[in-house]
Amino acid sequence: MAHEATRVLLDESRIPRTWYNIVADLPAPPPPPLHPGTGRPVGPEDLAPLFPMELIAQEAGAERFVPIPDDVRDVYRLWRPTPLIRARRLERALGTPARIYYKYEGGSPSGSHKANTAVPQAHYNAREGIRRLTTETGAGQWGTALAFACAQYGLECEIWMVRASHDQKPHRRSLMGVYGATVHASPSPLTRAGEAILAGDPDGPGSLGIAISEAVEVAAGADDTRYALGSVLNHVLMHQTVIGEEALEQLAAFGETPDLIVGCTGGGSNFAGLAFPFLREKLAGRIAPEIRAVEPAACPSFTRGTYAYDFGDTAGLTPLLKMHTLGHGFVPDPIHAGGLRYHGMSPLLSHLYELGMFGAVARSQTECFEAGVRFARTEGIVPAPEPAHAVAEAIAEALRCKESGEPKVILTALCGHGHFDLAAYDRYLSGEMRDFTLPQERIDAALAALPVR
Ligand SMILES: *Cc1c(COP(=O)(O)O)cnc(C)c1O
Repeated sequence: MAHEATRVLLDESRIPRTWYNIVADLPAPPPPPLHPGTGRPVGPEDLAPLFPMELIAQEAGAERFVPIPDDVRDVYRLWRPTPLIRARRLERALGTPARIYYKYEGGSPSGSHKANTAVPQAHYNAREGIRRLTTETGAGQWGTALAFACAQYGLECEIWMVRASHDQKPHRRSLMGVYGATVHASPSPLTRAGEAILAGDPDGPGSLGIAISEAVEVAAGADDTRYALGSVLNHVLMHQTVIGEEALEQLAAFGETPDLIVGCTGGGSNFAGLAFPFLREKLAGRIAPEIRAVEPAACPSFTRGTYAYDFGDTAGLTPLLKMHTLGHGFVPDPIHAGGLRYHGMSPLLSHLYELGMFGAVARSQTECFEAGVRFARTEGIVPAPEPAHAVAEAIAEALRCKESGEPKVILTALCGHGHFDLAAYDRYLSGEMRDFTLPQERIDAALAALPVR
């Protein structure tokens, strides 16, 4: 089939049987999470109030391949394997000799890659007798995915949704309700962390960091309740490697090897999920793709943040994570970048970045929406604002190829559709959308509040 095909679909039997843990192939593991009180690495007993034992074990594990439970594969069958599609119509419109491929994760029940980790997280919690999960959600994609997964396993699901999104995205909220979840606007008066923020700023828009504080506080205070995180942590990145494992097989079926892999990074999970299996092949000397993360210019944790121990949340309830961070008090401008508006970054990806295993660039929101519209008008799928960042970078590279005549093979993850983001597309189309420039003083001020370690 080689260059003739447009989509490569795999049979259900090709759903991966294992997740890939890249830690097994690194010269050194990432620095461990630290207890904020003692400054010592956190142990399983510190994490037990928040996560089930199996996920705690996965978080610290060094096994190269972790078996995917049969009943998780069975739920995956609802949408996996996902298609790998060649963007022929986009290529033609650009007039580029580059060949662009995208792994489409928007066909999951919740509309993004987040379901890939929501399902195993619900599975392990249910298996260990947990009755309820709490979480935060920003744009609503993670909350929707977890609500769907909890419905599969008969778990209650309670979600703190960043107030700005809660008010602007009523349909995401409704979808979580359809799946049976309870949704609170964050900051909420239901938690000490929420009350403290409301006391200082009763009408604030909230942030992911604040919502995490609320969900963590409630989980830590109840025996039958645990907390679930949709990105950042090692086990989450590992669950997402089903994306890259399938893409390896599909790209080979196209008769291609990648020259460039690009992905958007909020907490890093879809990027890692696509890139890690290819990085394994690269470390083994079989392929040599360049790998590049794309982040919003208004929340640039790789390109302008610092590599330091910081809290994962605003109130300082989480362990300290060594990561690229803008400071846990950083609240980004109100850009339309959904899940990319987080102050920190996955510690594992931050470690790989320090090892020079991939690069990073930042893009402004208007260039991302321009790319999203271009993609929609050629390929038909409306990208969520997050993968529109990756699409913008893929287009920029394809246009460089047009100049140089290089027929590069570019691979990206189209990690979610934008059907709940049409208000943001409206703002772009009407010309109301503006780019923010992030002054260095704001980053400096947030970094000045880093915990000292
Ligand atoms: C949550 C989300 C992101 C950002 O999270 P990562 O962990 O960096 O992948 C990106 N795209 C979509 C569609 C999301 O739902």
